[in-house]
Amino acid sequence: MQEKKSKGSLFIVSAPSGAGKTTLCRKLVSSLPNLQFSVSYTTRQPRKGEVNDRDYTFINRQDFRLMADKGELIEWAEVHGALYGTSRKRLEELLDSGNDVILDIDTQGAMQIKEKYKEGIYIFILPPSLATLKERLKNRLTDSKEEIRKRLGRAIAEIKTFDKYDYVIINDILEDALMEFEAVIISQRVSIKKINPLRIEESFLKQEEM
Ligand code: ADP
Ligand code: 5GP
Repeated sequence: MQEKKSKGSLFIVSAPSGAGKTTLCRKLVSSLPNLQFSVSYTTRQPRKGEVNDRDYTFINRQDFRLMADKGELIEWAEVHGALYGTSRKRLEELLDSGNDVILDIDTQGAMQIKEKYKEGIYIFILPPSLATLKERLKNRLTDSKEEIRKRLGRAIAEIKTFDKYDYVIINDILEDALMEFEAVIISQRVSIKKINPLRIEESFLKQEEM
């Protein structure tokens, strides 16, 4: 049966830095078919192991500002002293291809998207406690003490916005959090709003009641 592709769903995922958002999103994108990650632009320096155009597209502040001024970013925000933004073109192309898309963005960016994509699905990831968050940031070994202090300082303000989201996942045991995250995505795929009518055999719809 020829299937016409419908637009993918947009999942907006926010969490305080260190909660495990990147770990969860990467694992899901590699295990679930038709799920893609939208690569953001940022002015922050790449961390050890990060690859340009895979983790982020790393650009300077001047080029970032230019993109923002030209309206090429559907949302952008300053986070921990660096600029981060989502390319309108990249996002539209991903959604038009029929794939579901994950946007890993901060709470300010999520609220900007909420005004434009009413049909987005908003997911907030919480660490089990502030002490765990601190531990994870320390163990990640990617940020200086000063960076960790800044990230923890901002965590409380971010966590307070969790009730603006549709789903909250507590990332304590990684496998459990992954299962919950996957369930949210799958539930959208089988929702009556998203199911492609062309997937339902024609004879079911034409058949007279017996
Ligand atoms: P974020 O993207 O939210 O800043 P990361 O995905 O980089 O967070 O995770 C922060 C650190 O915590 C990483 O070292 C990661 O391996 C670890 N981590 C993530 N989830 C868990 C978990 N459920 N249990 C233990 N450690 C975790
Ligand atoms: P990190 O530097 O730890 O990768 O990300 C810091 C914060 O920036 C995280 O909360 C992350 O979700 C957010 N972020 C990443 N990309 C974007 C983006 O395109 N827009 C916005 N608003 N935030 C982003």
